[in-house]
Amino acid sequence: MSGRDGAPGDDASGDGERPDDGSEPAEGVDDWDETVAEWDQEVDEWEDATPENGTADGAGDVDPAVDRDPDLPPDDGDRVPKVVSAGHINWDVTIHVDSLPEPDGETRIERLEQSGGGSAANVAVGLVDLGGQSVVYGSVGGDESGALALRELASAGVDPGQVLVDASEPTSVKYVIVDGSGELLMLANDGANESFSAAGLDRDTLSAADHLHLTGQQPETAAALATAAAEAGATRSFDPGRRVADREFDAALHATDVLFLNDREADALAAATDLDPWEPDDRVVAIKLGDEGATVRTPHGSVSHPGFDVDPVDTTGAGDAFAAGFLAAALREPEITGDGFSHDPRDYQVPVLVGNACGAIATESVTARTDLSWERVREQLGESPETDLLIEVRA
Ligand code: ADP
Repeated sequence: MSGRDGAPGDDASGDGERPDDGSEPAEGVDDWDETVAEWDQEVDEWEDATPENGTADGAGDVDPAVDRDPDLPPDDGDRVPKVVSAGHINWDVTIHVDSLPEPDGETRIERLEQSGGGSAANVAVGLVDLGGQSVVYGSVGGDESGALALRELASAGVDPGQVLVDASEPTSVKYVIVDGSGELLMLANDGANESFSAAGLDRDTLSAADHLHLTGQQPETAAALATAAAEAGATRSFDPGRRVADREFDAALHATDVLFLNDREADALAAATDLDPWEPDDRVVAIKLGDEGATVRTPHGSVSHPGFDVDPVDTTGAGDAFAAGFLAAALREPEITGDGFSHDPRDYQVPVLVGNACGAIATESVTARTDLSWERVREQLGESPETDLLIEVRA
């Protein structure tokens, strides 16, 4: 994105904003405040030297509505969001090879990693990593992979107590083969990952939740869960994934407050339904733009952020990390979610920043499961102190 060019502190070497000794910013809140104060000073000096408050290359003026000092890490007094995350729970096997084999060929495995996966599980874990509470809902098979997936979720701090074990199906296992240049090949079975239904989720669990996050699943299950959550007073988000335009998700889409889509999915949905994700008239849509960050569209305008410069090694799971970061930031603010999700685009500056930071962090790790933390989010922002200026609000 051209808006990144020429902004203050935009320096691949990191000089100018990192401590002189090249060390990471220190951990304490005081040091963080100090670092932010230094950035503010840098920004003020840069603004004085830049005509009409525009970016140095004139690409897009800075909106006065932009919050230049976003309050990122949660305070102790912030509320801890309780989320039910419903959808796919997989077991992922990631295999690293030098080069992908040709048909009939053979290649040596350099490294093999196994981890939990599946969008619902990934978001549930990400939310716990960022200080929330999550219950995951979905289904696994009655095999060893299913047992591993449940154990891994429990050890990550997610409550897997509601997960259906379907003994008649294998757990959905995804094999991801990655070559030295980051090229991917994926193999997966559906297995048990859509065996669950809305009726299997305990209503008390839903009533105790602040929010329901849905990922890809049977359309009627998604619709029934969203309706039940609305009746229980919980807000709803939905990340339907790449099959969004091929499945009958209309009812679920209309029952959610926030949709997560990537740009291709947004275009496909606009072409196939009466819902235009780029200009929504009754909900919030967060559209992920890969290495160009994300834009959040509301009926009253939009807020965009061009993302972070990283060297991606594997973008699997970046969308789930984005959703976890966005929700972790939004759900702790009662003014955003107190009465459904706010339609004021200015409210989404921190959620879009945190979502982009988490998405960027996810691209730097090989499996779909990313170790998120507020510390890592802060470090990500610390590497690009100009980012708050690059937020663009259109109200
Ligand atoms: P999905 O994985 O759902 O298709 P994206 O590929 O757009 O979605 O990735 C989700 C988010 O991850 C993006 O909005 C962005 O914040 C981050 N991201 C993805 N790829 C990159 C990249 N190459 N560089 C920096 N951030 C990235």
